[in-house]
Amino acid sequence: MHCIVVGGGLAGLASAVWLAEAGQRVTVLERRGSLGGRTIAMPLAAVDDVPDNGQHVFASGYEHLMRYLDSVGTREHVHFPGHMTIRMPGGDARRNSFSGLSGLRTAVGDLPGVSGLDRLRTARAQVTLIRQALKQPDWLDEVTADEWFRRIGLPQSARDALWDGIVIGLTGDKTDISSAKVPADLLVTGIRRALATRTPISIGYPTVDLDTLFIDGAEKVFADAGVDVRHRAVVASIDVSDGAVTGVTLNDGERIAADAVVCAVPVWNIRGLLDQVPGHEQIYAAAEQLTPVPIVSVNLYLDRSIGMSDWGEILHGGEGVLEQVWDRQRMHGRDSARHHFYSTTVSAAYELTAKSNTEITEIQMDMLRRYYPEAADAQVIHSHVVRMPKSTFAQRPGTSGIRPEQRTAVRGLALAGDWTRTDWTTTMEGACQSAARAVEVILEHVNAPA
Ligand SMILES: Cc1cc2nc3c(=O)[nH]c(=O)nc-3n(C[C@H](O)[C@H](O)[C@H](O)COP(=O)(O)OP(=O)(O)OC[C@H]3O[C@@H](n4cnc5c(N)ncnc54)[C@H](O)[C@@H]3O)c2cc1C
Repeated sequence: MHCIVVGGGLAGLASAVWLAEAGQRVTVLERRGSLGGRTIAMPLAAVDDVPDNGQHVFASGYEHLMRYLDSVGTREHVHFPGHMTIRMPGGDARRNSFSGLSGLRTAVGDLPGVSGLDRLRTARAQVTLIRQALKQPDWLDEVTADEWFRRIGLPQSARDALWDGIVIGLTGDKTDISSAKVPADLLVTGIRRALATRTPISIGYPTVDLDTLFIDGAEKVFADAGVDVRHRAVVASIDVSDGAVTGVTLNDGERIAADAVVCAVPVWNIRGLLDQVPGHEQIYAAAEQLTPVPIVSVNLYLDRSIGMSDWGEILHGGEGVLEQVWDRQRMHGRDSARHHFYSTTVSAAYELTAKSNTEITEIQMDMLRRYYPEAADAQVIHSHVVRMPKSTFAQRPGTSGIRPEQRTAVRGLALAGDWTRTDWTTTMEGACQSAARAVEVILEHVNAPA
């Protein structure tokens, strides 16, 4: 059977690798000149380095992503250190481990910047929050995360210290935009996975650049399995006849026949591709509601250390300007003889993304100086600003259940991508879980009696 995979991001790569593992003939069609979609390395000649388009962190429940890494032979390059640090303005820091005493302190409201009665209020609100996440009230998808926190009486200090960061980290968007149901569902997924695997929820990171992690191994699998990869192949439509998929048409008019197609393009590229698919109006309407969220990342090469004590540090109260700083050399086990390399991430960077590179670099450096005394006189050797206006998608109140299933009304056609329906939101794990489900649909179809 000939299977076409449209899109060479993580969802498309995982689909192609697993279809090839299942013995199918596979062609990958990717619009750009290289694979990887939203997870790519960006070689920088100026500093002879290979930073990424943005720091990608892993959660301990990412089972499908780990399965993909097993398939492409790079699982050893992900490390879960078991701790992360919250940094206060002025330089004070508190290392948080994800279990044991530190977890217990968090549970009883002992968070940086939370004192007196607010600790008690935090502990009480957190119990309500977990209870309502597990047994969700009807109104949860009607309100934003902001409103949810207000209703359960979570103090602002606890939000600054932990919860707003969790919402932005989990949903990719701000608390006044995201539906409360999105972080609630993800907390439930995390808790269930932690209970099933008997391991605490934890955060990890790649110890190599994203091309080495996701693409090099896949290209080797493709070469060994005879998977045909076509770059700069833009699919204009998925072709359907008598209720079954027949192939695709490229935007230059070329037709490629296939027995099965996995459509793994991002939500903002789906319009037009499915015009021949019954029910496409509903899918397009859902796509309209999943609006893009920008992330701005800055790869900063400095002349000295800023004195980070952990691999990744969340800046307390930094929401909206700078949230997280990553010590990339520590993470990748590389020396700092030539420069000190830090990466910063601003999620939901609606305002920042419109500024110039110079302004963004200045804002980031000012912020680093506020949090790290050792950064006071640091000089920027090179600054690499990466704007990703379409990084993740926002799920606003009232959008629960709109993400489409991988199975479509057309025989032999499956959807994949982080925006299709999964247990996760807009994440690498969502992309890989969608691929696993799409491949299941396709294998069912190709193995069905004629
Ligand atoms: C800066 C940044 C930081 C992030 N941080 C994290 C994180 O810490 N943890 C996490 O889990 N997730 C993170 N994410 C989200 C994660 O990267 C995405 O959810 C995931 O990579 C999406 O994969 P995908 O395959 O669904 O889509 P994509 O990676 O977008 O791949 C889709 C592919 O389809 C191609 N395409 C589109 N249209 C066509 C067409 N017509 N014909 C052919 N090809 C087409 C595109 O060129 C692209 O290569 C982050 C994203 C960004 C940008």
